[in-house]
Amino acid sequence: MKKIKILKDLIDNAKNTVVFTGAGISTNSGIPDFRSSNGIYKKYPQDILFNIDYFRRDPSIFYGYLKEILEIDIKITKMHKILAELEKNGKIQTIITQNIDNLHEEAGNKNIYEIHGSLKKFYCEKCGKHHNADIIIDKVKNSEIPKCSCDNTIRPDVVFFSEQVKHIQKCIKISSKSDLFIVIGSSLNVVPASWLPVYAVENKAKLVILNNDKTNLDNYAELIINEDLDMLGCRFLTLTK
Ligand SMILES: [Zn+2]
Repeated sequence: MKKIKILKDLIDNAKNTVVFTGAGISTNSGIPDFRSSNGIYKKYPQDILFNIDYFRRDPSIFYGYLKEILEIDIKITKMHKILAELEKNGKIQTIITQNIDNLHEEAGNKNIYEIHGSLKKFYCEKCGKHHNADIIIDKVKNSEIPKCSCDNTIRPDVVFFSEQVKHIQKCIKISSKSDLFIVIGSSLNVVPASWLPVYAVENKAKLVILNNDKTNLDNYAELIINEDLDMLGCRFLTLTK
């Protein structure tokens, strides 16, 4: 049987499907991913870009990166649209994402856990004041580094390295209760997020990995498809019509 048909059958037969997404799902939107050959870390080194101590000393690297991302004409990908449709039809129950780009919400998904936070919220670490994201984003687009009224640099509510991942206990619970766990566009390199599929598999869920490259958990997977995600999405759609 063709892999794509197996995928459809797995989704049709599951009762509680969790989809876990990483940067790879957003590359077709125009956002570069982190670790591939054209990835963000080639230009902005990993140990600087999401390093909170470095950000506190010099936020210009992070905000320079953010400005660059904001200048891209970002489009919701076919795979995001398919996931929204599947949730609407009751075929998937939860999205857990490592992405901070808000594309799942824009596509129409409702039950989303953004474990690395998002760019919808900005706040000041010093005085605790929350700041309107639209205003901050306009400032960043104008190459300004956003400052709070207390003169401290405003930070995004995203998870930097060494900071605690959000909703992790809840996501462990949800993953453990799933009977199908689909990884999309994640190389599963970042802990503790990469443990979630393991919780799922240990509790007898079937694991599916849809990714361009190999992952550390390929050995545990019931099904692996290494293919461009939008191409895969097209083939999936022809199967459901
Ligand atoms: Zn402040």
